[in-house]
This record gives sequence, C-alpha cells and structure tokens, in this order.
Amino acid sequence: TIPKLKIILTIAMCHFLVASVGLTMVPTEQLLRVGVDGQLSIDLSDVEAASFDFGRLSKAEPLAVLHPSSAEDVAMMVKAANGNCFCVSARGHGHSINGQAQTDNGVVIEMSGSRSKTAVTGPRVFEEEMYVDVWGGELWIEVLRATLKQGLAPKSWTDYLYLSVGGTLSNAGISGQTFNHGPQISNVYQLDVVTGKGELLTCSEEHNSELFHGVLGGLGQFGIITRARIALEPAPQRVRWIRVLYSNFLTFTKDQEFLISLHGNPASQKFDYVEGFVIVDEGLINNWRSSFFSPSNPVKITSVNSDGGVLYCLEITKNYHDLNANDIDQEIEALLEKLNFIPTSVFTTDLAYVDFLDRVHKAELKLRSKGLWDVPHPWLNLFIPKSKIEEFDKGVFKGILGNKNTSGPILIYPMNKNKWDQRSSVVTPDEGVFYLVAFLRSALDTQGKTQTLEYLSNQNRQILRFCDDGGIKAKQYLPHYTTQDEWVDHFGDKWDQFYQRKMEFDPRRILATGQRIFKPCS
Ligand code: FAD
Repeated sequence: TIPKLKIILTIAMCHFLVASVGLTMVPTEQLLRVGVDGQLSIDLSDVEAASFDFGRLSKAEPLAVLHPSSAEDVAMMVKAANGNCFCVSARGHGHSINGQAQTDNGVVIEMSGSRSKTAVTGPRVFEEEMYVDVWGGELWIEVLRATLKQGLAPKSWTDYLYLSVGGTLSNAGISGQTFNHGPQISNVYQLDVVTGKGELLTCSEEHNSELFHGVLGGLGQFGIITRARIALEPAPQRVRWIRVLYSNFLTFTKDQEFLISLHGNPASQKFDYVEGFVIVDEGLINNWRSSFFSPSNPVKITSVNSDGGVLYCLEITKNYHDLNANDIDQEIEALLEKLNFIPTSVFTTDLAYVDFLDRVHKAELKLRSKGLWDVPHPWLNLFIPKSKIEEFDKGVFKGILGNKNTSGPILIYPMNKNKWDQRSSVVTPDEGVFYLVAFLRSALDTQGKTQTLEYLSNQNRQILRFCDDGGIKAKQYLPHYTTQDEWVDHFGDKWDQFYQRKMEFDPRRILATGQRIFKPCS
C-alpha cells in the first residue's frame, strides 16, 4: 500500500504540472479522493467559489480545494505543501475584502464548508467550566445556537455572525461589547493550531504561549486554527436597543467615551454594547442598517439642525433576563440622564438576544433579494487614536466625504486599549482609548458617479493620505497592504516579533499568502 502522504504529494505535483504547462488534463476523481479523509477537489464550482471573497475586488484561482474532515487532514496538506513549496490558505467564510484567503499557487482549505463536506463535529459546550470548544471553521451563528441551548453565550461578538471563528480570531473580532470584554481574541482560552511546518499543536497562555499569542490577530501567518476554546457567560434573554442622535461631534464622542469608561461598573450601571454611526446624508434613511428608524419611527433628518450637514447616532443596548425586567427601565433611565443627545431623538426597540446579535443577517437577506449583496465592497476600517478623532471628523466626515450619498454605513465607536492583550499580533494605536471608524460601502456603478468603485476607492486613498499627512497615526483594522515596507510600517514596534514568529512557525512562508506580507518560497 502507498502511504497517504505520498499519494497526496503525487496529486499535488500532478496539479503543478497541469497548472504549469497549461494543460486541461485533470487527475481522476478517484485519485483526488485518496490521501486525506476529506475531499480534495478541482471541481470548477469549488475552485470558482474559493477564487472570490466578499470584497469582490480580486480573483485568484487555487490549484485545488480541500474540504478537510479533521485537523489531521489540515496538517497533512500543510506538510505536503512544505515539502513541495506550494501555498496553503485557510478560508473561513470568505468574508475578507482584498483576497486575504486566496491563493493562485496552491490549495485553499475550506474550513467552513458544509458539514456534509467537512464532516467535522459541531460545538461542544462545557457547562460547568463555561467554555465551548469549536472547529476553526465554525460560523459564529452556529456557536451561538449551540451555546444558547445550555443558556450560555460567548461574551464578545462581531456585528455579523456568518463569519468563521478562525477568520475573526485571525483579525481580532470587534463590536459594541469590545469596550467591556475586549475583542474576541481576548476571550479565548486555548487553541489547536496546525503550524506552517505541519505540526498540530495545542496552545494557550501557559502552553506554547508564543504560538497562542502569535496566532491571535496573526492574519493567518503562523498557523491554521482547527479548534478554539471560547469563554462563555450566562446568556441574557432580551435586549433593549436604543438609538439617540447628536448634531455636535464633541458632545457625541464625549458621551461615547463616558459610556465606555463605565466598563468596571456593576452590570446594572453600564450599557452592554456601545457603538455609533455617522449620517452624512439623508441616504441613510434607506440604508441597510437603518430599518430600525422606519417605518413606525421615521426620522426627519432635515428637521434636525446638524453640524456641517453631519449627524451622529449613538447606539446602545442593555441586556436583561425576564427575571429582572422590572428594573431595566430605571437602569436605562439613570444612564440616559447622564447623556447629552437631542432630547426628541430617542428610538427604542426590544427584542430577543439572538435577534439582536443576528441583526445584520436580516439586512443581508433584504439586500440579497434586491441583488445588492454580491457587489464590490471597497471597505476601509481604521483605528483612530482618541486625541485625533476631532481632526478626523473635520477632515473626513465633514471634508472628504462632503454631503454625498454614502452607499453604506459608516460606523464609529471607541474602545479601551487595556482590554486588548498586547502579546497578541494585532496592532492598535498607542493611546488608552481609540476609535473604530468603518466605511462599509458598496460600489453600485448604476447609482451615479459617487457610488462607483473607482470613486469610492479614490476616496479611501484620500482618507488614508489625509491620515498620513496629518500625523493621525491611524492603524488599519483588517489591514491591506501590497508591499513589505508598508507592512513593516503598519506593525511598527511589533514588526520584529511578527517576523521572528513567522520564521519560527512558517519558515517557508506558505500560509495565507493572500495577505501579501511575506514572499512565499519559490
Ligand atoms: P476569511 O475571509 O475566510 O479569512 C480571513 C483571513 O483569515 C485569511 O487570511 C485566512 O487565510 C485566515 N483564516 C481563515 N480561517 C482561518 C483559520 N481557521 N486559521 C487561521 N487563519 C484563518 N469584523 C469584525 O471584527 N467585526 C464586525 O462586526 C465585522 N462585521 C463584518 C460584517 C460583514 C458583512 C463582513 C463581510 C465582514 C465583517 N467583519 C467584521 C470582518 C471579518 O471579521 C473578517 O473579514 C474575517 O476575516 C472574516 O472571517 P471569514 O471567516 O470570512 O475569514
């Protein structure tokens, strides 16, 4: 009998041959099924699906796609890649913007494929220990569904749940809970990781800690997360969801910063979620996150005296259990009294916890039905230090963006740096409080000049230039650069450590080459 690994190498080399001489000949289906327990595929539909991401800004066709059935499959593929110098990219749910999970010179491992293809087991909840063990490709919506069955839930979220655990942990995973609990990477106890050398290792703060901290926020550079152990808390049943408006930026940010400074308070004396967004034009009324306001709660933006044509919306929530439903109104009232929003602009709704967490999916379904989901998304996410946020407002919201249709939400909310573990790979500004500013815009070439891909991409470049020229010291979240010099600049003081970790865990530089940080071996 031929050892599995040998067969897989043969397949891989066969692909190389096919690819390099441009032949249409493909290895037989039978051959492709051998070697790994999962499925190694060169089906056009698999290859096509792995060639795109949510951004729809770039395309790269892999040589093959692996639907692994276990961590051992992943390790076997990475080992084969190591020996033969081809690239391996883990792909979660493919919700990157700039081809971060793509490769045109290797194999994409579909970590989040359908269960029938991956055959990995679902989340395993440990009720007493208050954690859940999940496969790296598991979607957060499935983690939520599984943990809710035991009355538990993870503490820290992203706004959208159809993202994979491995994908968000490779970045940070942020939302309105981050000020309180830290990003998702601050809420992980343990990981199983296949390093770039093909070793399957368990790591945590105590054990293989360099790998553990490196992988968290590590942009897929050091290993492929096959299992994550995630902290849980008792799940609330319901959520009171509140939006209030501001016409003055300083009042808005002062209130946001006040609210996140309450993170150390007892639960009754703080909100559970603090976000916000910018309204630079009336288009927001029809925007995909604004259904909240209408039709029963219409906002007449023109009736509010805005600051330079711009309004700011604070979005906050309070979680509760039916048992303490009687106290919730008073607790909210006491907190709202301390804020300085436009008094007539309070919009409140009340919903089940799962419906709040899954809110963006509703918008997704609406956009899909109108053909507005699978369009290019030139998104830009920036961390801006607190000391520069006013300058940013003047230069960008009231300057570069002007009063034009925004074609997507612009989020803005602050976070506490002390909730971020500095040992992780992620880079944040050098101040105790910094803001996320997220331009989540869709390019709709049929909707006028200010919504074309070219227009929006130009505007993104202008925003980045404004930050550079003005010494804003912004850091990109979900960063995208094309040269190593830019990456060195991005990581700053952390570059040496990042580089050392790469040399230690993926010395042949075969992992996640779509990030374009390191040149793969040749
Ligand atoms: P992919 O795009 O598949 O992969 C991203 C990177 O991670 C790639 O480099 C890939 O190689 C690597 N990777 C994937 N899986 C693994 C693994 N198992 N082990 C190691 N590396 C791996 N982010 C937030 O923080 N907060 C939000 O609220 C938020 N909302 C979003 C809403 C939408 C609609 C979209 C499209 C994105 C949003 N994001 C948000 C961004 C999102 O977190 C990142 O794009 C994330 O990488 C997507 O996860 P994914 O599973 O699709 O990853």
